[in-house]
Order: sequence, then structure tokens, then C-alpha cells
Amino acid sequence: MYEVVIGLEVHAQLKTKSKLFCSCSTSFGQNANSNVCSICLGLPGVLPVLNEQALEYALKAAVATHCEVASKNVFERKNYFYPDLPKAYQISQYQEPLAEDGHIIISEDKKIRIKRIHMEEDAGKLIHSHDGHNGAASFIDFNRAAIPLIEIVTEPDIHSPQEAIAYLKELKAILEYLDVCDCNMEKGNFRCDANISLRSEGVTTLGTKVEIKNLNSFKYIEKALLYEIDRQKDMLEAGTKIMQETRLWNEDKEITSSMRSKEEAHDYRYLPDPDLKTLYISEELLKKVSYDFPELPAQKKKKFIEVYGLTEYDTEVLTSEKAIADYFEEAVSLFSSPKIIANWIQTEVLRVVKEKSISLQSFPLRPPELVSLLMMIETNKINASTAKKVFTEAIATGKKPDVIVKEQGLEQISDNSAIETVIDSILAKNQNQVKEYLEGKEKVFGFLVGTIMKEGKGKFNPKVVNDILAKKLKER
Ligand code: ADP
Ligand code: ZN
Ligand code: MG
Repeated sequence: MYEVVIGLEVHAQLKTKSKLFCSCSTSFGQNANSNVCSICLGLPGVLPVLNEQALEYALKAAVATHCEVASKNVFERKNYFYPDLPKAYQISQYQEPLAEDGHIIISEDKKIRIKRIHMEEDAGKLIHSHDGHNGAASFIDFNRAAIPLIEIVTEPDIHSPQEAIAYLKELKAILEYLDVCDCNMEKGNFRCDANISLRSEGVTTLGTKVEIKNLNSFKYIEKALLYEIDRQKDMLEAGTKIMQETRLWNEDKEITSSMRSKEEAHDYRYLPDPDLKTLYISEELLKKVSYDFPELPAQKKKKFIEVYGLTEYDTEVLTSEKAIADYFEEAVSLFSSPKIIANWIQTEVLRVVKEKSISLQSFPLRPPELVSLLMMIETNKINASTAKKVFTEAIATGKKPDVIVKEQGLEQISDNSAIETVIDSILAKNQNQVKEYLEGKEKVFGFLVGTIMKEGKGKFNPKVVNDILAKKLKER
């Protein structure tokens, strides 16, 4: 048997308006090379200046993950040539990173240690095209160059793909709750490199690891890790030595393939950047950053269980994303029936969000409208099945639920005499069934209720129907 050992490196883009060392915009989807200047293009004779907002965001992430923040920070040049890196070095941190020795708790008995968090700049983007003047051509877009990132590196504490996903989801939620990263994996502002090795059970030294790059969805991370576990297991069983290397996930073939043999830190000739002063983090700055700290996922979970009385499962779902937690809490503040709201969010709201692949933020029915719908059920104005129809209609038309109910005359009828009249006529028309029921065939009761409800076009209050019908049958 082999034990799986995984360590993750996440690059998270900080949601600052400007880049890490210049005032260029970070806005996404602009024309290629429109967000660039002499600093982020690495032209000679210019000097970088650290973006204070980026530093504050990075510090928030460090504090939230229980890291020790270093008072002394050094920016270093990581030297290598690649066309997307105009200076031929990336400004990063190596010897003196921002923060070390933190952790994230992913379940009651599992804590993943964080080795370090450092700040660095992103590279540009290469665009390969096959219809250039001479056939194939490649282009470079530097809009992304020097956008601020933090890299969050775990200790090799993760022992299964499931644990890896749980850690990533928790980290993502923390960064979202802090509002320091958009964590949009498709746009690449939350990316993960996974390091993985196997070792025979009982062995305490680490096996040779392989690093998998290019993982931009939870699904791919899980698939790539599972693939790599199988591949390494086969190799070890065949007595083949695992090579330390960097592999790429190929999403079409669903395999990893070798990209390059692993480079070592010394290959990069890290050197302190002489253009950037040593950065000392003051107590005041740390205080400022820690002040007014938002509620984090762990605290939210506790509150949802203790204050709103939700189950563990409901809590997991409702706190998994900040947008869901916010939606829920806004609704609860307007209508204090947490359980009903939790159910509707999970079975209706999130179902539609998923079907339409939209974000909850752009879901048309906002908490006040959802609440107005739920209150109509609560006050017996409409029944639950009408409410579901109104819900669908409100999403499709953008009309408010109470307007739809009024326009279509969907109000539930609780008026006893109207219901009684219908019941009498149904009983008269179904003499045989009534006889069967009186002879002990209890199932018939449901059939009669259904027939009456149908006659009432779904608008009868089902409880009133049940009560009157039961009374009338008893009297026979
Ligand atoms: P490198 O210098 O190759 O980048 P690091 O020591 O910085 O290696 O570790 C990078 C990541 O790889 C960390 O998340 C670490 O936990 C993980 N890691 C290190 N060694 C192993 C191993 N043998 N198996 C799995 N993960 C590992
Ligand atoms: Zn710039
Ligand atoms: Mg490393």
C-alpha cells in the first residue's frame, strides 16, 4: 500500500485596481497591450513603487490563515527568460517572504499547515495563432504582466485528492470572504499547482515528487491527481524510479504529460532587487489591516449552526461561497424563518443558478422578493405548489411575486363555503369511491383530495380541504 502525499501552491490574484509596482489598470478583457507602461514593460530608467493596497490585501490573507507575518520583507528577482516576461526576471520574494507557518482547518480533525505566503508579480500572456503572415505566429499581451499575486504554499500535509479539494475550497472561501481576490478560476485569478508523491506505508521520508501545472478547475485538479496517483503507483510497482519533473494536465486526453525536468531554486539566481527597498511591516499597519476584519467562513459556519439553528449540511452549502451566505443572511434579516429560507435557497435558488450557469449575484430574484414569496405561503395567501410556479414565472419575467399572484388571481381560497360546495359535488359524483373508502380503502382519501384540488385549480388551501373532507366522510 502506498500513502499519497500532496502539497499545493496557489497563485491568487489580488483584486487591486492597479498593478503591483506601477499605476497601470488591472481590468480584465481590455485590448491587448493597452494596460502597460515603461515600468511593467521593463524599459530602462524607471523605478518600481510598491502598491500599498496589494500589501494590505496580502497581509489580510496572511492574518486570516494564521501565519506569522515577517516584520522584514525583501523583494527578489527570480531570473529566467521567457517571452512573456519582459524584464527577464520576475519580482518575487524568496528568502524573506511576507508570512510563514500558518494553517487552514478543513475538518474537525484535519489541519493543513501553510508553509509560506509571498507576494509576486504575474507574467504576460502568449497568444498562439496559426494564421499569421508566414503561417503560424505568436503574440504577447502584457496587460497581465505585473498584476499582483500572492502565492500560498502548503506543507505536504494533504493525503488524498478529496483533501486537496477541501483545502482549496476553504482557501478560496477565505479569500472571497476577505474580499481580496475574485477567485474566478476560469479567468485564472485562482490557480493551483499540485505537487504529489507516493511512499510505502510506514515510511517517514518523502518520495520523489512531481509537480502538475495548469490546473484551473476543481474537476481537473481531482482528475489530474487521481491520474498521477495511478501513474506513480504503476511505476513504483514496476520498480521504475520516479523522476522529479513538472508535468502538464491535458484536459482533452485527461492525462498528465512531462513538460520539463524540475528546476531548482538555485537555477533562478534569486537576488534582492536593488530597485526596491527592504520592506518593514509596522505594528500600526498590521493593526490597521486586522481592524474591521470581516467574518470568515469558520465563524459564519459557527453562527449559522448556533444562531440560525441550521444543520451541519445546510451550513456547509450556505457558507461555501460568500455570495450564498450573504443572500441567506439578507433574507433572514427580513423574515426570520432560517430553515424555510435555507430549504428554498438550496432546492430552488441554487438549482436555477446551476441550470442557467449564472452567478448568484446575477440571479434575478433578490432576497426581498424571495421573502415576499415565502411570506405569502406563511400567511396562507398561496400554497406551496403555486409558490413554485410563481417563483419560475418571476425569474422568467422579472415581475415581482406579489404582482404575479395578483395579476393571475392565484390567491389561495380558504373560504370554507366555496370549498364545501366543490367537495359536496365531488362526493356526489364519486359515490363508488366514497363507498370504497368507507369500507376501509384509505388510499381513496388522497384521490378525493386530488380531485377537489384540481377542481379548485390548485388554489384551495389544502389543509382546509383535508379538514372538511375528513369531517364530511366521518358524518356518513
Ligand atoms: P520546490 O523547491 O521544488 O518548489 P518546495 O519545498 O518549495 O519545493 O515545495 C513546493 C510544494 O511541494 C510545497 O507545497 C510542498 O509541500 C510540496 N512538496 C514538497 N516535497 C513534496 C513531496 N515529496 N511530495 C509531495 N509534495 C511535496
Ligand atoms: Zn505599468
Ligand atoms: Mg517552491
